[in-house]
Amino acid sequence: MYFVKLTKVNSWVGNDTFSSEELRRYDRQLRILGLERQKKLKDSKVAIVGVGGLGSPIALYLAAAGVGHIKLIDFDKVSLSNLNRQIIHWTSDIGKDKVISAKEKINKLNPNVAVTSIKQALSKDNAEALLSDVDICIDALDNWKSKLLLNEICVKLRKPLIHAGVKEFYGQILVIIPGKTPCLRCIVSEEVIEERGKIPVIGVTPGIIGLLQALEAIKLITGMGELTLNQLILFDGLSMELTKVTVEKNPTCPVCSHL
Ligand SMILES: [Zn+2]
Repeated sequence: MYFVKLTKVNSWVGNDTFSSEELRRYDRQLRILGLERQKKLKDSKVAIVGVGGLGSPIALYLAAAGVGHIKLIDFDKVSLSNLNRQIIHWTSDIGKDKVISAKEKINKLNPNVAVTSIKQALSKDNAEALLSDVDICIDALDNWKSKLLLNEICVKLRKPLIHAGVKEFYGQILVIIPGKTPCLRCIVSEEVIEERGKIPVIGVTPGIIGLLQALEAIKLITGMGELTLNQLILFDGLSMELTKVTVEKNPTCPVCSHL
């Protein structure tokens, strides 16, 4: 479908939730979402764990869409070799904490968004406390150890998790609803995971995959469309193919089999 039926913008006037500035800012999407779904975005709190190649487009686009509260979690500082893909950070940010650099850009893009910057690495000691007050967690991490820890905590807290990983021209996405869908551990064996040091990547790959994560987050919050549940999405940028692979819960999964 190429066209949606447009609603008259005048009908937004008179609401108590959005200022006239917000109504103008979100005009193009209000015509699709309506005030009620836009309010769901405003009322939502999303954790972006990792503010690098994936986290950059996720943070910018969720902020632009009007997600009301974004929690950024990353321990690292901006370095020169980040800048081929981590587009929320600029040359003048080198040496700055990533969560601060990202917060500054979000504030400039959309001052209606509340941003919490957490300069910490996700660990067993802090993960539960950091994630207990958010509605959705987004995996924008760059290593499997942290990804599996995030998965474990999200299952424990029953928080939806939007996982992704990228390498070179390839990416993958998995939307995890604890108790309803397979978790990351159901499909990834700890034994086969090897950390490979610096992962080679073309900057557009995390750009594309991060935006698909942001899209799934917006669908999850607003209830629009169909989420890609029980499906691992595989992206191949070289052949421009997007493949859906059906995945199932592992009945002996050490993380989620008890749900
Ligand atoms: Zn599982």
